[in-house]
Amino acid sequence: ALTIGIVGLPNVGKSTLFNALTKNSVLAANYPFATIEPNTGVVPLNDPRLDRLAEVFGSERTVPATVTFVDIAGIVRGASEGEGLGNKFLANIREADAICQVVRAFADPDVVHVDGRVDPKADIETIATELVLADLQTLERAVPRLEKEVKGKKTDPAVLAAAVAAQGVLDQGITLFAGAGAAGVDVEQLRTLGLLTTKPFLFVFNVDEAGLVDEARRAELTSLVAPAQAVFLDAQLEADLAELDDDEAAELLASVGQSEPGLDILARAGFETLGLQTYLTAGPKESRAWTIRRGATAPEAAGVIHTDFQKGFIKAEVIGFEDLVAAGSVAEARKSGKARIEGKEYVMTDGDVVEFRFNV
Ligand code: GDP
Repeated sequence: ALTIGIVGLPNVGKSTLFNALTKNSVLAANYPFATIEPNTGVVPLNDPRLDRLAEVFGSERTVPATVTFVDIAGIVRGASEGEGLGNKFLANIREADAICQVVRAFADPDVVHVDGRVDPKADIETIATELVLADLQTLERAVPRLEKEVKGKKTDPAVLAAAVAAQGVLDQGITLFAGAGAAGVDVEQLRTLGLLTTKPFLFVFNVDEAGLVDEARRAELTSLVAPAQAVFLDAQLEADLAELDDDEAAELLASVGQSEPGLDILARAGFETLGLQTYLTAGPKESRAWTIRRGATAPEAAGVIHTDFQKGFIKAEVIGFEDLVAAGSVAEARKSGKARIEGKEYVMTDGDVVEFRFNV
């Protein structure tokens, strides 16, 4: 599964958030295919559509999609020049598919800030700088090698051109995720170089209760990290919610002006940041959400259930979730022409309820 690496400066609430995530983790028994490691939180992607489908189909259970978060330990500051823990930090980030930085935005004077002030912008820059420096080092080694390979006609000149252009972006202290587009750097060409800052970023602002509903501050912090997504949550509150039953949790959330847990918002944002979407299947046994990349075709989607489904793919019967619920059954949806037969070229849409036809 694709993973999101969680990073942050010390004392920003990273452990508090991660503990809440692991408490919210899906039970390994329901997901035998998921290897759940101690530093990994596999959280469900809350999807109210599954409950509706379960009603329509009389399903015994619902199985939501999941998002995997990995706690990335190690020294942040100085990592790019470091040995040992610094290197481990960078190596762990290299393995993640997206980077989620937890940023302290709560004021509590009892919790010491490493730099003696609460300054989200500076904290974001501190981590970005380490990753940018690490990428510059990677490119310093890679560019002379690529030059030789291009001369020897072993490498496409477009790769070298992209690497040099990437250096230009990084030299300004900007990550490739934030700056490659505007600078016209073709990041696809850089894929084999193992760069860190081409990965998609996501930011979690750990705010206090007042910060959750401070729209002006939220807008300010959101624009600070665009085009990355910003999620606002109170890590301490999330940790408290994880200890409560559903009714108590709903009450606590309502008391701070929230309609859903921050962890649900984070799971959704993480899922989007990874470039993923879901489609749905439903039957008497289970209503289930399946994870595919955005842009996946029907045979690729079938392959997520079973590789044989992809190999033997014939066609898919697709009903939009809203249409199916409105019709009340597959038979009624078919009668009213809402069930579509789609072939190999069909690109899946989020919320498709699907039944595959295949040869075995
Ligand atoms: P880490 O070093 O980033 O892993 O930070 P911790 O999760 O250990 O949190 C550092 C301190 O900040 C602990 O004393 C937490 O109780 C406190 N803390 C974490 N999140 C919040 C929060 O949202 N609000 C407040 N007031 N304190 C928090």
